[in-house]
Amino acid sequence: MEVDTYETRLTSENALEIFDKYDIVIDGTDNFPTRYLVNDACVLLEKPNVYGSIFRFEGQASVFYAKEGPCYRCLYPEPPPPGLVPSCAEGGVLGILPGNIGLIQATEAVKLILGRGEPLIGRLLLFDALAMNYRELKLRKDPDCPICSENPTLKTLIDYEEFCGIGTEADKVHLEPEYEITASELKSRLQQNGDVVIVDVRESYEYEICRIPNAKLIPLNELSTRIHELDRNQNIVAHCRSGARSAKAVKFLQEAGFEKVKNLKGGILAWSDEVDPSVPKY
Ligand SMILES: [Zn+2]
Repeated sequence: MEVDTYETRLTSENALEIFDKYDIVIDGTDNFPTRYLVNDACVLLEKPNVYGSIFRFEGQASVFYAKEGPCYRCLYPEPPPPGLVPSCAEGGVLGILPGNIGLIQATEAVKLILGRGEPLIGRLLLFDALAMNYRELKLRKDPDCPICSENPTLKTLIDYEEFCGIGTEADKVHLEPEYEITASELKSRLQQNGDVVIVDVRESYEYEICRIPNAKLIPLNELSTRIHELDRNQNIVAHCRSGARSAKAVKFLQEAGFEKVKNLKGGILAWSDEVDPSVPKY
């Protein structure tokens, strides 16, 4: 067996050239821009795309082969809005699941090579690890699919980060510098007068790994229902692991009328770097 590895990121510039050398593409990626890129490149090159994806306790698999059936865009014409894509902390996956779905993908690839059996073309296999069952959905080709229909509107690869709204303003929350505080500043503030409430917007299992002393845990997705637990008159510093989720929390609180709220720049990782190296990083 010969294995070619590519130490490069798959992009719109190189995908067609790389895929062109192979008969079957198996998509083991974990993000929406790459998934649409892989789909579109496979449609343009008329190659089968053995698809799998996983989320929490569930997985799905199919074979997208536009010559004989629907493509990924026929099933999911639009990517989910970036704000709704759960982070790994919120939508983490049962560790065994990539194995379950990966074996299904490998099986489909071998069947395509052998030309035996019924491939998952036009079928979406859904695996539920908690119920331990498989279900199957019939998939139809979308006659208006932008890439695999008879009159496609897409004839080349596009900018998939932009298509998925990633790296654009829609995904990131930008805070003015006065709404940010560094870990060292927070430490000296706590030492001076301590009139700061620290709100940890991570998930509870992250809180179990490490925490800033006296931080109050309110996971980001519970903030809107637990906002009454916070006092508008107090100084609040929100933090998460690296600062992105808590920036959303600060924005949310500002919009709810909280004026004395700041984001811990760099999150608990920065706290570990700058203030307390005994706080484990994860
Ligand atoms: Zn399609």
